[in-house]
Amino acid sequence: MPTSLVTGGAGFLGSHLCDHLLAKGHRVICVDNLETGSLNNISHIRGGDFRFEMADITNHYEVDEPIDFVYHMASPASPIDYARLPLHTLKVGAYGTHNTLGLAKKNRARFLLASTSEVYGDPLVHPQPETYWGNVNPIGPRGVYDEAKRYAEALSMAYLRQQGVDTAIVRIFNTYGPRMRPHDGRAVPTFLRQAVADKPVTVFGDGSQTRSFCYVEDLVRGLVALQESGVHEPVNIGNPGEMTLLEMAERVVELTGSRSEIVFEALPVDDPQVRQPDIARARDLLGWEPEVELREGLTRTVEHYTSSLGSPSSTS
Ligand code: NAD
Repeated sequence: MPTSLVTGGAGFLGSHLCDHLLAKGHRVICVDNLETGSLNNISHIRGGDFRFEMADITNHYEVDEPIDFVYHMASPASPIDYARLPLHTLKVGAYGTHNTLGLAKKNRARFLLASTSEVYGDPLVHPQPETYWGNVNPIGPRGVYDEAKRYAEALSMAYLRQQGVDTAIVRIFNTYGPRMRPHDGRAVPTFLRQAVADKPVTVFGDGSQTRSFCYVEDLVRGLVALQESGVHEPVNIGNPGEMTLLEMAERVVELTGSRSEIVFEALPVDDPQVRQPDIARARDLLGWEPEVELREGLTRTVEHYTSSLGSPSSTS
């Protein structure tokens, strides 16, 4: 039975990844400090093949059993989280990535870095292929996240080239689905929370900026396909179905049967104008492409939200 270590395994993506790996027959060690994750995301997991370790991966961390795969998912990921935790975000990209690469080296494990489409910054090339080097503002409020991920990518390549660690880099584009925190500030959970409560749905700017939303199940399938390949160069994983944020807000209002009106708020600093993955590399090298239609994914996400409405934090 292969063993996978998942940092950030109690977060949104990490917890779905743990579910997927366990269903595939892996033993899973989930390492998380619960900074932005929650035990609620993994409380349904039962059985001896799952181990939770409460630890901050920016500190020295040893694992007392052999591991075959390392998925480094730990990092604040939403703009409000990395605005609140700027130094931690830089540290988890630097020390956290050093530590997890060190674990992979010791165990001769394959290592996967969860990087992000934010390495492209406010892109001047559209859609974004992996060969595009990006347009990032290093000193803006988003710089802590974008540059931490860019550094982590450089570090992964250095461990590959100098230390012979078997590394992979996934550039994740906007992903949505059950277990996103209602107050994490990202578009889909915010729109859903507001629409379900018939409150005004707040769209930044005039809503003409675009995003491409991938359902979490497709994303996780892509991560595992990349981890199981021998590919070292970065691979975009995301859904190329691009839409404006205003269109997304309208979809959510329609799907939830909400009486909410859509209102507009000031655009955050350095908010990217466009986002769309070029997924030719994922198709060619991994045979991967998204399968879940937006309507289906949103319906599943809405069901999760409405069924968890009992919790006061999810309704306010
Ligand atoms: P999340 O905030 O739900 O999950 C991150 C997890 O990492 C949390 O459980 C948190 O407690 C944990 N964590 C943070 N710092 C830690 C530390 N020092 N030690 C141990 N655990 C720590 O975010 P997510 O959306 O699931 O994102 C997961 C990863 O995917 C992140 O690396 C993020 O940058 C990347 N990503 C996500 C998206 C997306 O759309 N969700 C897009 C691009 C990239």
